[in-house]
Amino acid sequence: MNPISINQIIETIKENNPDADLDLITLAYEYANRAHHGQKRLSGEPYIQHSLHTAIKLAQMKLDIPTIVAGILHDVPEDTDRTIDDVEKEFGKEIAKLVSGITKLGHIKYRGLERYAENLRKMFVAMAEDIRVIFIKFADRIHNLQTLDSLPPVKQQRIARETLQIYASIANRLGMWKLRGELEDLAFPYVYPEEYDWVKNLVSEQFDKNAKYLEKIKNEIQENLKDANVKTIQIIGRTKHLFSLYKKLLRKDRDIEKVYDLLAIRIIVSDIKNCYHVLGLLHSKWRPMPGRVKDYISQPKPNGYQSLHTTVFTGKNRIVEFQIRTMEMHEKAEFGVAAHWQYKEGNDTAHKFKIPETQMKWIQELLDIEKDTKDTQSYLNTIKIDIFHDRIFVFTPKGDVIDLPEDATPIDFAYHIHTELGNHCGGAKVNEKMMALSTKLKSGDMVEIIEDKNRRGPSEDWLKFVQTNAAKQKIKTFLKQSRADRMLNIFSRR
Ligand code: MN
Repeated sequence: MNPISINQIIETIKENNPDADLDLITLAYEYANRAHHGQKRLSGEPYIQHSLHTAIKLAQMKLDIPTIVAGILHDVPEDTDRTIDDVEKEFGKEIAKLVSGITKLGHIKYRGLERYAENLRKMFVAMAEDIRVIFIKFADRIHNLQTLDSLPPVKQQRIARETLQIYASIANRLGMWKLRGELEDLAFPYVYPEEYDWVKNLVSEQFDKNAKYLEKIKNEIQENLKDANVKTIQIIGRTKHLFSLYKKLLRKDRDIEKVYDLLAIRIIVSDIKNCYHVLGLLHSKWRPMPGRVKDYISQPKPNGYQSLHTTVFTGKNRIVEFQIRTMEMHEKAEFGVAAHWQYKEGNDTAHKFKIPETQMKWIQELLDIEKDTKDTQSYLNTIKIDIFHDRIFVFTPKGDVIDLPEDATPIDFAYHIHTELGNHCGGAKVNEKMMALSTKLKSGDMVEIIEDKNRRGPSEDWLKFVQTNAAKQKIKTFLKQSRADRMLNIFSRR
């Protein structure tokens, strides 16, 4: 890894935030440098390089100063003789809290499955307290992955696997796609070395074949947009992240010809009106592929992602995907929740930053799962479905969007809306057709629950196919209650 200097961090911060308090950054650097003096990483680099690499990542994510300072200091209490109290005396409560959040995440007692569960729980607790702790942990993990070669193989495996299982999943759920892609691509060669080589070669073949063509299309559309007087901020040819491509290939019989978004051009424009304008221009120039036009601007994905997507036939057997969005949508897509902590003119105090309510809701749900789950295995199963499954969004007849895990059924939908609706669910219409209650819903489905007032309660069979923790718990609670009532009846009859 190239060594970096504190000046590079300062320059990066200045680009995004010209009024930042840079003295604090310098102070943190001097403090950490003294504290880690003489220490080396297994890679042979001076330890402070790890602190700086962590911090520059946070600066590139345009995060606030306390987060970057805590990034510089994050290993001080753990690995030097300075304590967290020392850090607090020097840098104040907010920064000390962030640093101690990181230190707490590092202490994992258990092994195996227990370790996995403990790790997750700690991440969720940290997120609920101050989500910036997770951003620092991600940046720390990126540099650890970049220097993974110098660790013994057993540790390489543990860290790389944990990255795919825990870190990437959480980054995904937080909408931090860029970071998720980086984490996955760094861990990929360690966890699946042969598969990694296969995908890498496949991509470089495709790239050699297509790079020139993509450039040509890019220039062509650039000219068209100029003629139509559409101001673009950026037009970029995008290549897919390797690990996400790998996962897609597994779903497409390992056939790269079936992956339509391998080549994509991203067009960033000034406002929403122009997004649709560009889409119209593309479609009048090239024939769109049916079923591939997606309007995530009027219907954002559950995690808030917004963009227009279309795949067009650009010539003989050639297809290119286009993604059209505003700068604001682009930043949100790249940084996800972290975008809410980014410096924007006029709100440079950390207290004005707030996590969006929908995100807070699922973090709170994670913590609640912890409370009422006894054994590790069932805890993990619950987490896996409620949190780490991909999400779908479906509509109520009124057009409200409901966010559910993949494979959710009308019963999950009913319980999500109201416990009573779940308990009295008599049937379901999906896209205006009567369907079985066990039907797996798909994104975009319109779901209507037919209420049956005479129905006494849920059927035990429903437990076989419901997906969400909420539905499961509510069905179980009802069944337990009615069993207790029956017992009471038997006794009172005597
Ligand atoms: Mn570290």
